[in-house]
Amino acid sequence: MLEIKHLNKTYEAGRPALKDINVSIGKGQFVVILGPSGAGKTTLLRSINQLITSDSGEIDFEDQNLRLLNKQQLRQKRQKIGMIFQNYNLVERLTVIENVLHGRLGQKNLWQGMFGVFSQTEKQEALRLLQEVDLQGFELKNCSDLSGGQKQRVGIARALMQHPQIILCDEPVASLDPASSVMVLDLLKKLTVEKGITCIVNLHQVDLALDYADQIIGIKAGAIQINEPKSQVDKAM
Ligand code: ADP
Ligand code: ADP
Repeated sequence: MLEIKHLNKTYEAGRPALKDINVSIGKGQFVVILGPSGAGKTTLLRSINQLITSDSGEIDFEDQNLRLLNKQQLRQKRQKIGMIFQNYNLVERLTVIENVLHGRLGQKNLWQGMFGVFSQTEKQEALRLLQEVDLQGFELKNCSDLSGGQKQRVGIARALMQHPQIILCDEPVASLDPASSVMVLDLLKKLTVEKGITCIVNLHQVDLALDYADQIIGIKAGAIQINEPKSQVDKAM
């Protein structure tokens, strides 16, 4: 469902951050991008939804090269690509349910304003998603009152509000304690199995990658070192 071909990126006055990356990713897969700090994981992940502009190559999604789309076309495609972040990127002064509803903002026209625009159906859906991430009863709390693990689950609910086909997860557990990390990764895994959502997850922990991944893409200094189904990586290690 996602094909990356000959992708290259060099930041200004730097060494190449991505060197001829070729990757094929299937629907409903839990894909881990594994590598040490500075390897290029964030650059690769953010190049997929064009948060980072790459220099050359293709990112083919639904038979279109995302690198060649105009702003309007890209906005439509991005609706199908959710994202969660190491530092959650929630609006701290807003409530939990308002943050979840934010996931739908990209589909609204700005002139509709912010919160009046959400229908009863959308609010019901947001509540249902909060149940799904085990945060029922938290809807009216301020995000600033939540633990890291709870914030990340709000982030997942917000991404789900987009009805994504892919969720890009940029070091989603790097700020979490081990128990919360497992909870977040279990939840992402469940989305791949039960909803067929593709999760592409940046990690630097080999043990977590082996526990959760269907496919492991190992990168180092901007180049792919490993690109295998997990079963093959198991044998190699
Ligand atoms: P990460 O968690 O991916 O290791 P960093 O702390 O390295 O993040 O980077 C934080 C921010 O700084 C990111 O937005 C990244 O793009 C930017 N950044 C990282 N390395 C450099 C660099 N050498 N020059 C300028 N900006 C950088
Ligand atoms: P990772 O996510 O694996 O830690 P990054 O993709 O953040 O790696 O970084 C890959 C390389 O690109 C690193 O050498 C980093 O310093 C550099 N880099 C990242 N962001 C920037 C930036 N905004 N400007 C310049 N160099 C950057």
